[in-house]
Amino acid sequence: MTNFLISIVIPVYNEEQNIQPLLKTLIPILKPYQYEIIFVDDGSKDQTIPLIKQEAKKSQSVKLLSFQRNFGHQMALTAGYHFAKGACTITLDADLQDPPDIIPKMIERWEKGAKIVYAKRTKRDSDSFFKKLTAQAFYRFINFLSDTQIPDDVGDFRLLDREVVDFLKGLPEQSRFLRGLVAWSGFPASYVTFERQKRHAGETHYPFSKMLNFALEGIASFSVKPLRLSIYLGFIASALSILVIAFKSVQHFIFHQGDWLPGWASLFFSIVFLGGIQLITIGIIGEYVGKIYKEVQKRPQFLIKEKINL
Ligand code: UDP
Ligand code: MG
Repeated sequence: MTNFLISIVIPVYNEEQNIQPLLKTLIPILKPYQYEIIFVDDGSKDQTIPLIKQEAKKSQSVKLLSFQRNFGHQMALTAGYHFAKGACTITLDADLQDPPDIIPKMIERWEKGAKIVYAKRTKRDSDSFFKKLTAQAFYRFINFLSDTQIPDDVGDFRLLDREVVDFLKGLPEQSRFLRGLVAWSGFPASYVTFERQKRHAGETHYPFSKMLNFALEGIASFSVKPLRLSIYLGFIASALSILVIAFKSVQHFIFHQGDWLPGWASLFFSIVFLGGIQLITIGIIGEYVGKIYKEVQKRPQFLIKEKINL
């Protein structure tokens, strides 16, 4: 038995079919260690909570933290980090897509000095072509926009040293795009690879619309370049219109050619074009204003309904 404690944080949202299969694979792997398993229930409405309670009765190491309502995956992870007592904390999904058998390898890397150990997916055969494509496009885009390089092909399956967990806990920022924050911290990182499995049971909670929101949240949290982009767009549009006016003036006054009147098509086009650019830029500004609004409200990030064994 090791002399340090390992915390496992598992966000769960309507995962009744996965709790027992997950514990069945996880607990034998954790045998050689001192461990705690913290389930963070994100407002489940099915049998998830009663099932966890049943397990928590059997073992003090199984703990439950439940939210008043659904606050989202990132908030569930945040709450888990708040309550984890381990020398290191590992977060993983409840649906067995993140295979627990690589946990010992992750711990080994950490013992060798890494403060962050990412579990990196080698194959994503189980994910749809569309998910793979959008994920790749997202990481390319965010890394192009942001000064913080977020490693691609890593999700929220990772090990964090106590020091990194304390850094996350101490962050005054309300919004939690954890992948970005962890990368931003710059602690020495290492990788362990794995093959992403199929969801054991149930459906994904991340349909396209939610993925898009998550992506926009990430971009707005880690880059102000979109704001600068709107300045460039404005410059380009003005430069273009000055060029067109200059060209037309020369044509009209010097060469006495061309018509001023039948130009409604170009006029119409430029109004629509500029209108579009204006709407985009207002939207971009709005996105950041919204972020500032959320930050100054300083509402709690999550509300806890119940704690067991914690
Ligand atoms: N989850 C959560 N709150 C939510 C949505 C999901 O706590 O609002 C949990 C879910 O129970 C799972 C993990 O987050 O353990 C990842 O969710 P999911 O498997 O649906 O996402 P995917 O793997 O398809 O990206
Ligand atoms: Mg999943």
